[in-house]
Amino acid sequence: MPTCPKCQSQFEITQDDLLFYDKISPVFNGRKYQIPEPKLCPDCKEQRRLALRNESKFYKRECGICGKIIISVYSPKSDYTVYCHECWWSDNFDPVEYGCDFDFSKSFSEQFQELFKNVPAVNLNTHSSNENSDYVNYISKSKNCYMCVAGGFLEDVYYSNLGINCKQSMDIYFSFDSELCYEIMNCSNCYDVKYSKDSKGCNNSWFVDDCIGCSNCILCSGLKNKSYCFKNKQLSKEEFFTIEKDFISNLPTEINHYREEFKWICLSVPKKYIHILNSESCSGDYIANSKGCVNCFEIRDAEDCINCMNVMGVKDVRSCSQCGLNTEVAYELMTGSLNIYHILFSSVIRDNSSDILYSFNISSCSNCFACIGLRRKQYCILNKQYSKQEYEELVPRIIEHMQKSTPLSPPYSRGEASEASRGVEWPEWGEFFNPRLSNFCYNETVAVEYFPLTNKEAH
Ligand SMILES: [Zn+2]
Ligand SMILES: [Zn+2]
Repeated sequence: MPTCPKCQSQFEITQDDLLFYDKISPVFNGRKYQIPEPKLCPDCKEQRRLALRNESKFYKRECGICGKIIISVYSPKSDYTVYCHECWWSDNFDPVEYGCDFDFSKSFSEQFQELFKNVPAVNLNTHSSNENSDYVNYISKSKNCYMCVAGGFLEDVYYSNLGINCKQSMDIYFSFDSELCYEIMNCSNCYDVKYSKDSKGCNNSWFVDDCIGCSNCILCSGLKNKSYCFKNKQLSKEEFFTIEKDFISNLPTEINHYREEFKWICLSVPKKYIHILNSESCSGDYIANSKGCVNCFEIRDAEDCINCMNVMGVKDVRSCSQCGLNTEVAYELMTGSLNIYHILFSSVIRDNSSDILYSFNISSCSNCFACIGLRRKQYCILNKQYSKQEYEELVPRIIEHMQKSTPLSPPYSRGEASEASRGVEWPEWGEFFNPRLSNFCYNETVAVEYFPLTNKEAH
């Protein structure tokens, strides 16, 4: 069993993992460029990916083209040129103009870092399909939304994180196919449900936990197909509505008391050992409608996924985070959605893209390597356009260069490397972006929520 050089934990690389690396290894001119076994453990790889994603630290700054004051994930103190959503997606900006030749006297990381600094970034990670939703991040196909991060197909939703297909709702986390909900977490197919968690198919209820198919329930836990229950006690319809009237009129003054009571009710009812629904052969937690997923967290509609977090509507992906809406065959992908296929070591890849390697913020592209901000392109390297033949000749040479070269600094997650691993270096090929290439400070990223570091460790 290999030992992770960063955290010193031992981790397993199975025969099935090796078959997966072999299957996804890119082929150019009949020769396969093998993806090597990972050096870091799954957790350290996850931390390295998350250090590239700033979901909700926003700054005020100016658009580099029209001068409009915008909200952005990039601090005005950062080196990046930032454009507003309209300018970035318009024909006034062509990221191919920043294309450059690959320099074999330098490492891949150095050159990618240079491109990162040069290509203007879009203020927030929004999708061109959004309507009237200027203050959302990592959201697509949504309308009239405000301060929502991660998700899609939302309408009239405010303050959500990981909401998909929800309407007229507020303060929702990891919830799906729901309407008129408030303060819900891990809920699906709910209607008019408030202050609730881990429930499915419920309606007109307050403070329900681990309930399925319930309606008109208040402060209940672990119920199935019940109506008119209060604190897990069956009432008549008339009794329930009398209690509900009092409950609602007292809500403004008693909310903290209700929250406390709800906490104890949740604790008093035995729970299934894992939050798993309609799934088979899965391990991890918060899993729904999935099959054959191992060590996965907050996933749904997923098949054959390993070491993934926040993936929905995905198949055959490993070591991926925040992906969904038809993502298939991906490895070390941080953020990807909307019909994408065969994506390796990349971040923010969308809209019918395929065969993308080491790229960032790509839409509707195929066969691109080390590109940033491109849309509707094929056969580009470092944002420079090539013919198919040139691309297929040059990419293998760059991979061979990456197999020999080492990055700027060891490709650890940020944070201090263990004593034993100091000075250890390995080739760039087969590793996700060095966290030193991140556009963000560590404490601006999602990584800090799962892997907190001290100020000193993060530098
Ligand atoms: Zn580790
Ligand atoms: Zn602008």
